[in-house]
Amino acid sequence: MPHIFDMETVRPATDEKGKYCLLTSSWESVTEPGLYFIGASMRVNDPDAASGFVHGFRCNIQALGNIIAERHHGMALKPMFECKVPMEEPANALTSLAEFIVQYVSASMPLFELFSYFGSTVTFEESDEESVVRACVWPAFPREYNYERWGNEQNRIEIVFQYGFSQYGNGKLPTHYFTLPADHFDTSKSAYIHPVFHVFRGGVEVDSLHMQESLIGRWDLDDYVDAETNVDQYRNVAFNACSCALGLEERRSTLPVNDEHVGKCYPLMSEEEVAEALRVQPTLALLMRAQL
Ligand SMILES: Cc1cc2nc3c(=O)[nH]c(=O)nc-3n(C[C@H](O)[C@H](O)[C@H](O)COP(=O)(O)OP(=O)(O)OC[C@H]3O[C@@H](n4cnc5c(N)ncnc54)[C@H](O)[C@@H]3O)c2cc1C
Repeated sequence: MPHIFDMETVRPATDEKGKYCLLTSSWESVTEPGLYFIGASMRVNDPDAASGFVHGFRCNIQALGNIIAERHHGMALKPMFECKVPMEEPANALTSLAEFIVQYVSASMPLFELFSYFGSTVTFEESDEESVVRACVWPAFPREYNYERWGNEQNRIEIVFQYGFSQYGNGKLPTHYFTLPADHFDTSKSAYIHPVFHVFRGGVEVDSLHMQESLIGRWDLDDYVDAETNVDQYRNVAFNACSCALGLEERRSTLPVNDEHVGKCYPLMSEEEVAEALRVQPTLALLMRAQL
């Protein structure tokens, strides 16, 4: 890669193999200011997700376009969504914010394709009005860039898509072990790709809230709805994350069923029933042990 340049005057630093040029979080050569890279060369910053493929690096290029427009052409970055949150009566504003977030994570290409590598930041800033906070949802960028840009925001959320296989066994269990949904009572156990809300308060990460993994990769739709279904379960995860970031107490149910049906929908199993379930599907034992 570096040999396409006139090496006398342009000397982008490379990795040890000389395969990739070393890039900053915004894909600028670490040694040649103003020299940006697009395409498969962006993969150097993202060994795990899709930056080495067209469907991945197109998202990187879109993000770089935003960065260059702002950095070199004075076009300020705009939030994708913003609202005022009156702290004395925050529920309605936080519900609208949570609704936007649910729609966003259900159709976001960058967060999905660039799992673990990209994140979208939600900031909560003091506004000109007393007791009113301005909430903004910003476009997706590499997490490192987010940290450089918004790391000083005391109260914020970073929305990142993550897998959770590493939590089970030695982290290398075959995916066919995971044929059942993860623990509804502890959605951090979700194994398949799902949105995670890293909540920062006072500049410190105080919690991470997970939406339940979804077979269809949508959090704005329920696979199945009946009278028992809590149709707000995903919106409530986003609501709780925002509430937590603002230091509020309110938390809403994130179970797939409404509270009054929990006892009926999750009957406790006898020891014999547990033994029978393990006989039918022995791989469950590995998943159970991982959760102890
Ligand atoms: C077999 C295979 C299957 C793939 N399947 C998929 C897929 O299904 N979906 C997907 O999204 N991605 C896929 N990819 C990855 C995708 O093709 C690449 O990520 C993408 O083509 C990279 O685009 P690029 O423009 O960054 O680089 P390239 O397409 O590699 O373009 C670089 C260009 O620079 C030219 N060049 C190199 N050196 C010089 C030089 N010194 N002077 C002048 N020109 C030079 C090369 O000739 C080439 O034309 C696949 C890749 C391979 C190899």
